[in-house]
Amino acid sequence: MNGELIAVGSELLLGQIVNTNGRYLSQALAESGINVYYHTVVGDNATRLHDVLSHAVERSDLIVLTGGLGPTKDDVTKEVVAAFLGRNLVYDQVAMEQIEAFFVRRQLVMTENNRKQALVIEGATVLENDHGLAPGMFVEKEGKKFVLLPGPPKEMEPMVKEKLLPLLREKGTGEQITSRVLRFFGIGESALEAELEDLLEQQTNPTIAPLAGDGEVTLRLTVKHRDPAVAKALLDRTENKITERVGTYLYGYDDTSLMKELFAALQQKKLTIASAESLTGGLFGARFTSIAEASSCFYGGVTTYTNEAKQSWLNVSKTVLETDGAVSEACAKEMALGIQQRCQTDVGISFTGVAGPAALEGKEPGTVYLGIVVGKQEPIAHRLQLAGGRELIRERSIQYGCYYILKELKRWNYVE
Ligand code: ATP
Ligand code: MG
Repeated sequence: MNGELIAVGSELLLGQIVNTNGRYLSQALAESGINVYYHTVVGDNATRLHDVLSHAVERSDLIVLTGGLGPTKDDVTKEVVAAFLGRNLVYDQVAMEQIEAFFVRRQLVMTENNRKQALVIEGATVLENDHGLAPGMFVEKEGKKFVLLPGPPKEMEPMVKEKLLPLLREKGTGEQITSRVLRFFGIGESALEAELEDLLEQQTNPTIAPLAGDGEVTLRLTVKHRDPAVAKALLDRTENKITERVGTYLYGYDDTSLMKELFAALQQKKLTIASAESLTGGLFGARFTSIAEASSCFYGGVTTYTNEAKQSWLNVSKTVLETDGAVSEACAKEMALGIQQRCQTDVGISFTGVAGPAALEGKEPGTVYLGIVVGKQEPIAHRLQLAGGRELIRERSIQYGCYYILKELKRWNYVE
């Protein structure tokens, strides 16, 4: 089944808000096996919306509109769709009661405008709004399906998930779709695509969609099959072909992150960690502790921004600071060891480098050393040369930190 989306709202055209509803709906429909071929944004204007609808019915089986269901004059969506379909608007009893109850609860006076929100297109299946007042609608005419959804994402998203998708499934639209996201770190998008060029060209079922962002690359594998066991086998087969070539960069699946993977590994093996941060200024600790239950493995951390702090809190030697400098492999190692010893943790991690924009100790911005020490092993350090501005350099340092700690834990058989 082919679908298309129409986002209604002049504020979208003026660039005052971003059409995040388009993204959400595209993803939700794709996962339900519906091919979305067009997105249109149109202002709160009856003539132009009518015009958009005339094009949409020519090319799509499912037309999903968001926005313009509210009580104000500029909200014209349901009036226009009703006129387009040659139907009347009628009061929906459930919606009316919900609206009346809302005004009683808030002790507000209800106006005729508010009553208007309970109007629905005659013959529509009403999608109740559990987070607002304007109900959604599903209408069929001559084999075409029309869906009207409220504009505010906090009303629209649960309505899609809880009301619309089950209804579409019931109607037998789309096929059973299963996806799996493979997450890679340490390899760029173009390098990954080059390694997998032939697979990407031959792909049919599953399809393979690469996406780059936030320093990592993901591949979304999507398979269409009614039998979940067959779907899984098809995904496994494609995943194996991919990991045969680039498996060393694969770090996780679906909506995980490097930080979450690190946390899971430490927690599972009951390992503790402490951090010593210079250029990242505590960002590692902040990100780690944003995960619930972080206290089960995060002992604590220090921000040692100056050489004095590195010396007095972490025992970094004066010689290293004078000969190698603070931005050096030797300093990173001593920082990691210093924090590990001080906190008596299994893992010590350190970050020292140049976040920019100015160079430091003759080293270019983006030069970063990560120090890692695991158990009784010798401390190691990784030199990174990162691109981007100050914030990006700090963010990437954290990601690399997680990535390399996981590597070390694997190397010393702390985790599989
Ligand atoms: P309301 O009852 O709030 O008037 P509505 O269904 O009439 O809802 P609109 O008036 O079109 O919807 O939009 C209301 C708000 O919803 C917008 O100000 C905006 O914050 C959000 N919104 C609308 N459309 C979108 C969209 N496509 N993407 C993201 N947010 C949107
Ligand atoms: Mg509105």
